[in-house]
Amino acid sequence: MAITNPLLKTALENLVDVNGKFDKDIQEGGAYYRYPDANLYQPNGITCKNCAFYNAEEHTCTIVDGYIYDYGMCRFWNIPDSKITAVVIAPTEYIAMPQQTTGVNIMETMMPMMMMFMMMAMVMPMMSGIA
Ligand code: SF4
Repeated sequence: MAITNPLLKTALENLVDVNGKFDKDIQEGGAYYRYPDANLYQPNGITCKNCAFYNAEEHTCTIVDGYIYDYGMCRFWNIPDSKITAVVIAPTEYIAMPQQTTGVNIMETMMPMMMMFMMMAMVMPMMSGIA
């Protein structure tokens, strides 16, 4: 079943009436907007183009601020089952995104250093054998 719930749609619209539109930010309170080149769900039909909040003529969204692309998406998508072409499984890349916005990504920072130590651990015994 798609996440197309009229009550949820109305609740989000009411929230926007009170607080204003969500920004696109990938952080708490933001819409986690994905531009088309980063929208991994395009093949599934999860795109703004199919979303109930989208205004295609103006490239705007009822609840998310700014210019909205046909093939982008955000975490508030509201798309009927008939427009979704496959089961959607959240890739780990999507789940990991909030870590990347906090500044230092430990894995990205540590990985080159860990690779260097591993290389040294392999090369040093070989070099000591040559000497
Ligand atoms: S997926 Fe829907 S709610 Fe999200 S930005 Fe696109 S049109 Fe708006």
